[in-house]
Amino acid sequence: MKEKNSKQQLLALIFSEGGLLSRSLKNYEERVGQKEMSLRILDAYQEDSIALIEAGTGTGKSLAYLVPAVYWALKHQEKTVITTHTIALQEQLLLKDIPFLLKTMDVDLKACLVKGMGNYLCLRKLRELQDQPLLFSMEETKEVQAIEQWSEKTNEGSRSDIPFPVSPATWEKVAAEGEACNHVHCPHYKECFFFKARKEAADSQILIVNHHLLLADIEKRRRNPGQESILPLYNRLVIDEAHNLEDIALESFAQRFERIAFLRQLAKLHSDSHPERSRLMLLRQELSVLSAIPPTLLQKLEIDIPAQKRVCQTQLEEAFAELSHFFETHLADKPFFKEKESKKRITDGVSENPFWKETIVKSLLNLAEEIQRLSQMLNGILTDLEEFKGASFYEKLSIHLLEIQAIAQRLEQCSAFLEQFTQDEPKEKRVRWFESNGSNVILVDAALDISAFLTEHLFSQQRTSVLCSATIATAKSFSFLKKRLGLVDYEEKLMEEIYESPFNYQERALFVVPTDLPAPSSPNYLAECIKAMQEAIEISKGSVFLLFTSYDMLQNCYRSLSSGTLPQRYPFLKQGDLPRHLLLEQFKKKEGSVLFATDSFWEGVDVPGEALRCVVIAKLPFSVPSDPLYEAYSQSLEKEGLDPFSDYSVPQAVIKFKQGFGRLMRKHDDRGCVICLDHRIVKKNYGKQFLDSLPPCKTCFASKAEAFAQMRQFYEKTRKK
Ligand code: SF4
Repeated sequence: MKEKNSKQQLLALIFSEGGLLSRSLKNYEERVGQKEMSLRILDAYQEDSIALIEAGTGTGKSLAYLVPAVYWALKHQEKTVITTHTIALQEQLLLKDIPFLLKTMDVDLKACLVKGMGNYLCLRKLRELQDQPLLFSMEETKEVQAIEQWSEKTNEGSRSDIPFPVSPATWEKVAAEGEACNHVHCPHYKECFFFKARKEAADSQILIVNHHLLLADIEKRRRNPGQESILPLYNRLVIDEAHNLEDIALESFAQRFERIAFLRQLAKLHSDSHPERSRLMLLRQELSVLSAIPPTLLQKLEIDIPAQKRVCQTQLEEAFAELSHFFETHLADKPFFKEKESKKRITDGVSENPFWKETIVKSLLNLAEEIQRLSQMLNGILTDLEEFKGASFYEKLSIHLLEIQAIAQRLEQCSAFLEQFTQDEPKEKRVRWFESNGSNVILVDAALDISAFLTEHLFSQQRTSVLCSATIATAKSFSFLKKRLGLVDYEEKLMEEIYESPFNYQERALFVVPTDLPAPSSPNYLAECIKAMQEAIEISKGSVFLLFTSYDMLQNCYRSLSSGTLPQRYPFLKQGDLPRHLLLEQFKKKEGSVLFATDSFWEGVDVPGEALRCVVIAKLPFSVPSDPLYEAYSQSLEKEGLDPFSDYSVPQAVIKFKQGFGRLMRKHDDRGCVICLDHRIVKKNYGKQFLDSLPPCKTCFASKAEAFAQMRQFYEKTRKK
């Protein structure tokens, strides 16, 4: 009771009118949801619970969880890890919210952003490149020189701080990587950016990470129990943007074999076109200090390994040519490997096809064998050279040995992957597919369900887990999220709360569904949709987001709407034409812009004010039924006697729809309309789940004429006088 009162007093001191926040913020208004959310999170810290919290836009959720995290760090000296999906939110926490809160509370503690190793410059690699200018091309030389100058000035050595563009190929050559790092034995260990950052993380009480890093950390802990991992030990966790966690986990734990990445590894080892840039040649040069290189070693370096590397390359191309032939002829498919962004699942039908069994599997296994042979040859070199340990030139040699060891390890992983991928009976609850995006081909083997893994390796390791987002409940229930993340096993530890947005949706937002448009499956749908979009743009006088579920539809609408006079009055912007942040910048700058966008603009995009006053949602965002993961998971649900559509597809689409809807109101005085051009939302039974998940705003589900008339009235009424 005493503890409860003291928590309430603490939060009143911070959040109430006249409290610390109100003294620091102009026009501060107490938000009941924010204070209650903070109290619930403090309860979760105190009771070692798991809190599931949906906090509508504007609740102020980041301060609501930061206050307990700061309080706990000061009172109990316990670290909190905060993970988010977007960089924007990580930066907001680190640069704005945490400094502001600490100043407001007049307390001091350390917080830092933890990034993956590959984000840091490796000084050892950079110095090596300086000594070996032949390792890279003319263009790369310029980039490396610029990085060198930057390395003298930077404190963090992090890629995101580089003030000029660096190509991925150059960055790969200078980035820190686990397999090629000799830690305390590295001559640059003391000034190493990566290890300095890890030390800072160990000294910090609040650690901010992204979901990928959080998952990489738990995977590393799982593989090497009791050993140091990426993050220092912690047992209080806040997962913001928690609706993304499952997708990121499925993606992170999927195993892959990428054609281009594999060829890059081979080229690093030996290149026929630029032999002077290859690791084998550099090693050979270092050995020239010997009066005579042992002939067997020379044979391996100059003849055997380059020859084996060529065998791998040829075998790879043959295997992929056979795969292409298989898809085009045996499965009567489109030219799969020439298509952009296509995926082909290895269904039972595929794996039982005789050509698959007799030719493809054999070919991929041959490749695995040849890769394994190459890896063994490299390990052999490492053993051969051990005899020079202690020699004066060994230190220089060891740099190359480390790189060769890293390549050998990766090759071994590739070989193991191919063996697993070609197994007759893949493991339960896994799915395999091929992905093609033009020039690259990727083989993927992924889990269908990540819940057991998260339960065992994430949630069971935490004393407190807080999962929050503006969109994790569907029709006011957390059932979907709980099942997908494995939280059903923790019912007795769970707290569930929904805090509605404090924004006045009733007055400031109108949700419109024209009910007389053709159904999305109708041949007239696209043409009618385009007309409706045109009218919506005119009525809102631009400042519109047009959100699509497919790039094809986006292109069709863009082409058609661009042919009229509309773009002269309302500047058109299209996803893909510029990087995302520049598109947004342009959108905000150019009054009345219209943005055509798909996936990544449905969430994490903040355009407050009049720059965005209308969001058009073309179709309900159901997953593509042919997506391998979706298809395989749906089948596994059917086997369990569940209905994949209502148990999986609908809740997933509801969460995405809420995200799209949420783009409209970002500040309390924003206003505008959301129009859904897919009338299934009001005509189908499942539509109720979408509608019940939205904030309580004015709606108009009527004919196009009526709906647009109401939109006109709405804009007129809410226009600033
Ligand atoms: S310690 Fe590792 S990451 Fe750091 S400079 Fe040395 S090799 Fe690179």
